[in-house]
Amino acid sequence: MAVQNVMVIGAGQMGAGIAQVFAQAGFDVKLNDIAEDSLTKGYQGIEKRLDRQIEKGRMTEDDKNQALNNLTTTTNLNEASDRDLVIEAVVENMDVKTSVFQKLDEITPEHAILATNTSSLPITDIAAVTNRPEQVIGMHFMNPVPVMKLVEVIRAIQTSDASFQTIQEATEKLGKTAVEVNDYPGFISNRVLMPMINEAIYTVFEGVAKPEDVDSVMKLGMNHPMGPLQLADFIGLDTCLYIMEILHDGFGDSKYRPCPLLRKYVSAGWLGKKSGRGFYVYD
Ligand code: NAD
Repeated sequence: MAVQNVMVIGAGQMGAGIAQVFAQAGFDVKLNDIAEDSLTKGYQGIEKRLDRQIEKGRMTEDDKNQALNNLTTTTNLNEASDRDLVIEAVVENMDVKTSVFQKLDEITPEHAILATNTSSLPITDIAAVTNRPEQVIGMHFMNPVPVMKLVEVIRAIQTSDASFQTIQEATEKLGKTAVEVNDYPGFISNRVLMPMINEAIYTVFEGVAKPEDVDSVMKLGMNHPMGPLQLADFIGLDTCLYIMEILHDGFGDSKYRPCPLLRKYVSAGWLGKKSGRGFYVYD
């Protein structure tokens, strides 16, 4: 099956970006949210990003209009009834996600594939609440979606080869690279990234080096564009702790134990850039 019609559920930071890239690639896209103001904000964000592309000479006014013509917004989930693919990007909460998937299972056509953009929840468990687990899959986009080339395509244990291939092809039409991943905690991205960040925090905790020096080593010595502690501040230290807990619980391996200093920062409300203080101070 070739995907033509898409619905994106959740018009937040990720959902709006996902809707934008599908609309730009010529898919017919409906963007859904329970909150009208989120839809308005999401749509305005898309317009703004397209305008910026025009200013930079990377897009014409015609391209923008074409993309916007491909995109409608709705608060009515029943409009998923004619979609080939639905991508869920609502809040990271298992109860909310499973409730959305159960409704989608009722509403969408039999052939439709149901994807989730979750960064940490098990795709296998989400698939299991539907009557079409072989058509449930993870599409883990990176933030900011219009810029980042990667999509981790996560196969639940039930996901069929046909569903995987359909999603791989749709991802390539977006001009992005699909990487095939099996459903285990942290997938590839967070399983590799978060322990590095956690270890960087341990080096500060144990007095090996100051945050600036840890980041300098990784930037100047390893060619990382951003040091791990600066990156942790950008991601949010609460999110980093949450993902380390998922890895620790999921594998039961002490190598994933969250650093006590990370816990202490989160308890203090030092969550990184968004709270004004993390490993660095932000004005
Ligand atoms: P967000 O809080 O910016 O947006 C969530 C949106 O979902 C809100 O607009 C909210 O109104 C809407 N929503 C909540 N319940 C809903 C429902 N039942 N039906 C329809 N809409 C509903 O969140 P986000 O940062 O865009 O994250 C969304 C998902 O993407 C999460 O699963 C998150 O783990 C994942 N993700 C986030 C990032 C990131 O960097 N932010 C990266 C990759 C994946």
